Amino acid sequence: MNQILSKKVLIIGAGPVGLTLAIELTRFGVPVQIIDKAPERTDKSKALVVWSRTLELLDRQPGGSAPFIDAGFKANALSFLSGDKLIGRVTMDAVATPYPFALMLPQADTERILEERLASLGVTVQRSTEAVSLSLRDDGADVVLRLPDGHEENASADWVMGCDGAHSLVRHTVGATFDGSTMESDWILADVHVRGYPVPDTEATVYWHEDGAFVIFPISPGRYRLLADMPPSGDAHPPTPTLEQLQTLIDRRGPQGMTAFDPIWLTGFRINGRKVTQYRWGRAFLCGDAAHVHSPAGGQGMNTGMQDAFNLAWKLALFMQGRAAEALIDSFSPERSYVGDQVLKNAERLTLVGTTRNPVARTVRDVVGHLMLGLAPVQNLLADTMTEVTIGYPESPLNAGSASGLDGPEPGQRILDDQLFGAGSEPRFALLASGTPALDLIDRYADVLEAELRTPPDPEGVWLIRPDGYVAAVARLSDLSAIKNALTLLTP
Ligand SMILES: Cc1cc2nc3c(=O)[nH]c(=O)nc-3n(C[C@H](O)[C@H](O)[C@H](O)COP(=O)(O)OP(=O)(O)OC[C@H]3O[C@@H](n4cnc5c(N)ncnc54)[C@H](O)[C@@H]3O)c2cc1C
Repeated sequence: MNQILSKKVLIIGAGPVGLTLAIELTRFGVPVQIIDKAPERTDKSKALVVWSRTLELLDRQPGGSAPFIDAGFKANALSFLSGDKLIGRVTMDAVATPYPFALMLPQADTERILEERLASLGVTVQRSTEAVSLSLRDDGADVVLRLPDGHEENASADWVMGCDGAHSLVRHTVGATFDGSTMESDWILADVHVRGYPVPDTEATVYWHEDGAFVIFPISPGRYRLLADMPPSGDAHPPTPTLEQLQTLIDRRGPQGMTAFDPIWLTGFRINGRKVTQYRWGRAFLCGDAAHVHSPAGGQGMNTGMQDAFNLAWKLALFMQGRAAEALIDSFSPERSYVGDQVLKNAERLTLVGTTRNPVARTVRDVVGHLMLGLAPVQNLLADTMTEVTIGYPESPLNAGSASGLDGPEPGQRILDDQLFGAGSEPRFALLASGTPALDLIDRYADVLEAELRTPPDPEGVWLIRPDGYVAAVARLSDLSAIKNALTLLTP
């Protein structure tokens, strides 16, 4: 049962990441206060895709992934073209997930559904409330808040969550460096209505043109997002395109006969690839854009941030409730930093491949791309990576050991199962096993384990599954030491 906690978590920032964290902590019985300096939620479409792995994790929340799916639009394929030549096509049909598609959902809607869910759990975002300064103590933090009427108030919290975006106050306060670079070129983003898109509107297309990349994502029938890289303008802010400039770009780089009209959002942006190396600073944590920003190639930014929140919430809840050792919350930083590094690397690679203007490099890219994307394993790997089902924690300090020769996932890997791990009001580990030795473990570690055994992928083996659906340890029924080690590591 959840214990009543008097200790409080202050979440600074109610973007998609702060909202996800607030929902997760609240459903586990941790009291949260969530503030945002903005008077209202964003009305911008910004991040457009909710990927399969994020939907799987949302399924554990009250209300599940259904409201997101109902509000969104399913896209299921991505084609790469160079001129008129089809380089390759990747579909998501074969991805091993209940959600083999890209859910196109403007960020404003994602945030709306998350905020409504949080409100249904009894927590309201305090808007027009800004954290103006922060100082950390060994056992908490003192914060100065600027309230809606403009006056400042001192507040304190036991834990502070920096979900405050790319210009994070929390990151600056703890002194974390945000290493990386800003790409030279300017980008344009246009959410528009379109006539004459030559492929089904459930498919996205990347055009590799000699002038640069041109990308078309469906948002909903008749509505699309167009992205293109442009030569550097040298302006402090990348220029906002006009509809006429956009049409010229379509005619030059995109499909012939396609017309854009009724723009919803036109803007310019620059791509930053930056990341901190450490996500935990004593009583403060960094999540989402506060910890990592990257190219929109692959559409991973918001999803990676929301998954930071999913990773942290159950660990902090177990630790705050005195049911787990500090090693559990310490694992947040190495696990998510590892994922952040990979996302950054992949996004940078995809961006460089798509934007090269060097004729020799372009020819090599087109030939190699055509060869590689013709191979089913390469297509599958790309689809699995985009949908984030391959995300795992192979180097996690929580991985306590494995056993060879068993048929099933390894420590750090996601387990695909239609039984939801970690759903409900308590974070608990699950044991997949048959047989009495495993039942003894349930008695001994009743604080963190589910009361019932679940069916293992191999009857000879025992799997310890984390509340977020990743394997912590694997053992043979005849020798449970790896499972015991994992549970010992967890014990306070
Ligand atoms: C033009 C554009 C296009 C994008 N396209 C994509 C895309 O296609 N795919 C993708 O995955 N991502 C995309 N992104 C990135 C995506 O929007 C971010 O990754 C996502 O918003 C990160 O969520 P977050 O909650 O970490 O931060 P944010 O959404 O930035 O939220 C941070 C919140 O913190 C609040 N805040 C900040 N400082 C304080 C303070 N001191 N006190 C109180 N509140 C504070 C802010 O008001 C804000 O509401 C795009 C972004 C932009 C700008």
